[in-house]
Amino acid sequence: MVETAARSASSEPRRGTAAVRSVSILGATGSIGQSTLDLIGRTPEDFEVVALTAQSNAAKLAEMAIRHRARVAVIGDEARHGELKEHLAGTGIRAEAGVDALVEAAAMPADCVMAAIVGAAGLRPTFEAVRQGKRLALANKECLVSAGQVFMGEVARSGAELLPVDSEHSAAFQALGGSEPEAIERIILTASGGPFRTWSLEQIEHVRPEQALKHPNWSMGAKITIDSATLMNKGLELIEAYHLFPVEVHQLGAVVHPQSIVHSLVTYRDGSVLAQLACPDMRTPIALSLSWPRRMDAPTERLDLVKLGTLTFEEPDEARFPSLRIAREALEKGGAAPAILNAANEIAVAAFLAGRIGFMDIPRRVGEVLEQADAAGLTAAPETLSDVLAVDTEARRMASALLGTHAPLHNC
Ligand code: NAD
Ligand code: MG
Repeated sequence: MVETAARSASSEPRRGTAAVRSVSILGATGSIGQSTLDLIGRTPEDFEVVALTAQSNAAKLAEMAIRHRARVAVIGDEARHGELKEHLAGTGIRAEAGVDALVEAAAMPADCVMAAIVGAAGLRPTFEAVRQGKRLALANKECLVSAGQVFMGEVARSGAELLPVDSEHSAAFQALGGSEPEAIERIILTASGGPFRTWSLEQIEHVRPEQALKHPNWSMGAKITIDSATLMNKGLELIEAYHLFPVEVHQLGAVVHPQSIVHSLVTYRDGSVLAQLACPDMRTPIALSLSWPRRMDAPTERLDLVKLGTLTFEEPDEARFPSLRIAREALEKGGAAPAILNAANEIAVAAFLAGRIGFMDIPRRVGEVLEQADAAGLTAAPETLSDVLAVDTEARRMASALLGTHAPLHNC
């Protein structure tokens, strides 16, 4: 009997294993969006692409929409609408533009929405996708950082199936395997340590954008690459993990693991530690988010532990990377603090990339905005999406005033 069951399982087609068929991708032209389309394009017979969105690259969005036979393509920047329409003329693919069109794209019926817009700009479309109550593959971690309680409340209300795409959270999700909360002792997220892991504080002070944009292990969008270099990314991920998994703040930790092979570890009350390992390639967690509870092919490099030889782990250094401490403190404080942290960080990272502030000014400015918001009484936990957007706007205004720049608002 056992043999028959095993044989029948192995005789199932290797392709056609995806649990979802129709997919929309918010942020289709970005790093996660492109990796998702790369997977979908390998077995197009398994997927139907509903909506693809992007902010400003109309040519690339149109190319993706045509190649993957999407029904709708939406460009956030309305000034690019004409360009998008020109590219899509005669294809039968609808071309839309603007923030409301992004939200409408998220509301189109689909088995799965990949939420891969970067930053709080993804809040409104991602919330709309949750409201559909289908599968949400969540890459946009800023959503959970800014709006954790409200977001998870909406997930519970709509019955949406939330699958983490962030590699550490995908790893923890797998290592947890539906365990009862009482069984879990700790969840440890790993961090590569970024390109300046071994640099002195003095050297880190003088980091230039082009140096910070070179991540040793992962190829990602600009904002998350800078967050990885400051270790703010790990701080944001602790907040993300707090909302995704049934643990208290003190049960979450981070460890630096320069090889980025072990993506997270879960320690259980009996001393067992379960971890997920894979070569660093986002197509592995993306594939899981599309195919779970089954598995689909992902053409990633296979892990060869013998070739690798050594895996190392070290304590994160919060003196050289204060962003991690600032984010952890915002998580401990709760209320409006995580939303303020996220908004201030988005403004500071943009200013660093534009050459207006130094690398270590990122945590300094974020810390100052958190202090200023506290002094101004901006502390209450947002209870609705509008509350989140209001806190986000105010924190951006404070951060921009500190930096002496005009406040670029979240545009959703
Ligand atoms: P990216 O910068 O490469 O792509 C961002 C996408 O969002 C693009 O399609 C862009 O057009 C769109 N976009 C940008 N601003 C927008 C706006 N204002 N309105 C609407 N759309 C907008 O970013 P990425 O690296 O793909 O990251 C996307 C999200 O996934 C981020 O939240 C990031 O933290 C998370 N994430 C990324 C990785 C990775 O490997 N890249 C890993 C884990 C988590
Ligand atoms: Mg990650």
